[in-house]
Amino acid sequence: MSWHTKTIKELSGALSSKEVSAQELASYFLKRIRETADLNAFVDVSEEQTLIQAKEADALIAKGSASSLTGIPVAHKDVFVTKNWKTTAGSKILTNYMSPFDAHVVAQLGLQGAGMVCLGKVNMDEFAMGSSNENSSAGAVKNPWDILRVPGGSSGGSAVAIAAGLSPAATGTDTGGSIRQPASLCGITGIKPTYGRVSRYGMIAYASSLDQAGPMAKTAEDCAILLNAMAGHDAKDSTSLDKPTEDYTAKLGKPWSPDSKESLKGLRIGLPKEYFGEGLQQDVRAAVEAAIEQFKKMGAECVPVSLPKTELSIPVYYVLAPAEASSNLSRFDGVRYGHRADQYGDLLDMYKRSRSEGFGAEVKRRILIGTYVLSHGYYDAYYLKAQRIRRIIAQDFQNAFQQCDIIAGPVAPSVAGKIGEKTSDPTQMYLEDIYTLSPNLAGLPAMSAPCGFGANGMPVGIQLIGNYFSEASLLQVAHAYQQETDWHQTLSPFAKKGGVA
Ligand code: GLN
Repeated sequence: MSWHTKTIKELSGALSSKEVSAQELASYFLKRIRETADLNAFVDVSEEQTLIQAKEADALIAKGSASSLTGIPVAHKDVFVTKNWKTTAGSKILTNYMSPFDAHVVAQLGLQGAGMVCLGKVNMDEFAMGSSNENSSAGAVKNPWDILRVPGGSSGGSAVAIAAGLSPAATGTDTGGSIRQPASLCGITGIKPTYGRVSRYGMIAYASSLDQAGPMAKTAEDCAILLNAMAGHDAKDSTSLDKPTEDYTAKLGKPWSPDSKESLKGLRIGLPKEYFGEGLQQDVRAAVEAAIEQFKKMGAECVPVSLPKTELSIPVYYVLAPAEASSNLSRFDGVRYGHRADQYGDLLDMYKRSRSEGFGAEVKRRILIGTYVLSHGYYDAYYLKAQRIRRIIAQDFQNAFQQCDIIAGPVAPSVAGKIGEKTSDPTQMYLEDIYTLSPNLAGLPAMSAPCGFGANGMPVGIQLIGNYFSEASLLQVAHAYQQETDWHQTLSPFAKKGGVA
């Protein structure tokens, strides 16, 4: 059986009908992970730990106390701390770091919660800084659609795990696009929830006011199932929202207007003119526009909207995120966690050497920028100014949502580029984030769903952005689209390979 081509929904059915056991599924996926080591998607695998969990999951299923996720394998982005697997956040400074506890998300999805079985940790850009997954101390991750190309970042390992059929589910984090952009570049589905909807406890901080965890999977329906287990208030994260969650699967398959036969009748989709301007590659534009035509066929109405400060999202984000990062990363000092230089003079020298040896180039660049914009004399000119524009960006979305229910546009300006193509030009790399940064700055939920292929047969995703707490509606629209199209079912060359357990 080709279990790796199945959705979580389908695997869940196979587990409950005893067609397959959690242990068989775990072994099946572990074998695929071993056979695709070249993709560099996984950074820590412990077959023993995975099989212990799978055995426990089987016991739960046998007892009749299983949830719809019990026994389903999951891969965790290496930014979530885990008790039984190393956690490095893609950094040399955390080489071989073992956490004494599991992150909230890991616990919620795992055996203490929904009963999923952890396959291991997946590669990422160092401290989630990047748009190509080339900034990892474990090396670049390869895109399973073309191994000479990047998978996007920073949750590149998560996206590749799904797209190559190495796991049916993965966790990701999104500070400025890191769930949506790799999802788009690898042809899978992912959602960044409203800021604060999912606990950040145990998620190594990059930019705390922007970081948000979310699910990545093949379909919108699978993401909804995963989000049900991930979302919710957590007293251990003071920015976690104390608002009841909803059943994110509840609206799937239902028409937008209850009395209509057309699935999207009554839905107003806002198309921001700034998302379709210069810089958007023709092939990506064509795929996104075709998806919009499909939405219209399903009854949706499209309205032009404007997000006038879109261009400023890049300078604003690249002031605020480094500012927060420079503070968050000061904890890595060679004393409490991870790497300490072998040789040093006094205490200050030990800090300097440990950090110089432990951090990669992009992380250092951001610590420098962040320290600079926060320093006396520059704070008002850069940090405070950026905060003010952040507020305007959030307000622009509220103005747009007066005219529409959701916003649609591209995720990234182009399909996945070649490995090494942009590494020497950070500014060029930052431009990749033009369409994804604003929802984070505003704290809004946003997702990516596969909508076709562009140049060189590489996948393209469409981005859907909603107002606060509209995750269920975004997933409803994406699910309706996935009922009418099969882009999400197209298999990458790696997912076409193999199949027998
Ligand atoms: N590419 C952006 C950055 O480099 C976003 C990364 C993210 O969302 N973690 O910061």
